[in-house]
Amino acid sequence: MKYISIVGSGTMGNGIAHVFAQNGYQVTLIDINQTALDRALAAISRNLDRQVSKGALTEEGKIVTLANITTRTKISEGVSNADLVIEAATESIDTKLNIFRELDALAPASCILASNTSSISITKIGSATKRPDKVIGMHFMNPVPMMKLVEVINGYKTSKEVTENIITLSKAIGKIPAESNDYPGFIANRILMPMINEAIISLYEGVGDVEEIDTVMRLGMAHPMGPLQLADFIGLDVCLAIMNVLHDGFGNPKYAPCPLLVNMVTSGCLGVKTGEGFYKYSPGSKELVVADQFSKLPKNTPATV
Ligand code: NAD
Repeated sequence: MKYISIVGSGTMGNGIAHVFAQNGYQVTLIDINQTALDRALAAISRNLDRQVSKGALTEEGKIVTLANITTRTKISEGVSNADLVIEAATESIDTKLNIFRELDALAPASCILASNTSSISITKIGSATKRPDKVIGMHFMNPVPMMKLVEVINGYKTSKEVTENIITLSKAIGKIPAESNDYPGFIANRILMPMINEAIISLYEGVGDVEEIDTVMRLGMAHPMGPLQLADFIGLDVCLAIMNVLHDGFGNPKYAPCPLLVNMVTSGCLGVKTGEGFYKYSPGSKELVVADQFSKLPKNTPATV
């Protein structure tokens, strides 16, 4: 594989583009929003600078990496020679089905179509195309340049050959692949999201406050980040969307999203990206400050927002 197109240039798309370009692939980064593309190139450049300052990359390596990336605002202008397309657009089933219908019509017949979805069925996405055997999940972790795992998700009709190709490719870009079958949440979010949701329920029911819940999980379970801080980092809207996929997909009430999570998303408190979630964030500050809503919570009081 040589030509990789990436659809969606947000948090994940720019990280995926960075990693492929740094490993010598020709990357076409596509987004309907020119501002998102400009922001993505600026983020990649900043992240490459960080690697240079740590001695992990040369100045020349940075220039070569950036030269391997071109940008487009239309799928029709960016996939005609692709060996692989990785879709990393907004987590919405309708958006993804429309993108895959378009990719199926425009990408070469041999091209593999992958989705970076956190939770949407690969089988469903594949069934929107005439090549479900070539549709697969490639679930990168955030931040992509730093995180080693790629969860490789086999849809019901994904061929063995395509899975093997994607596993080989993942290793070629320095990642460690782990295979999952296609059931709601796959492996990563089937386990992670109920834990985050339970942490939010613990806060909602007044079992502990924000800092106590995160401290217990950091120091007691050796997690690098507490579940509430991690939820802020992922985006509370993304967490809610994944819980809804688990709840709808399994029809089991144990996956019902916590009402506090629903309220926070409804209020626009989405975590790092909006400046407030369980913690509040100001540009340039690395200090972790609990959001006002939770900072004065009396013990045993449900945390309704
Ligand atoms: P994001 O909101 O940062 O970026 C999404 C981008 O997709 C935006 O720039 C938007 O303009 C673009 N887009 C929307 N519709 C499009 C279309 N039709 N064609 C081209 N571009 C389009 O989202 P993100 O956090 O990067 O998430 C992207 C995908 O990765 C989602 O499926 C998400 O579930 C998954 N994911 C996210 C994380 C995470 O931590 N954020 C981790 C793993 C996987």
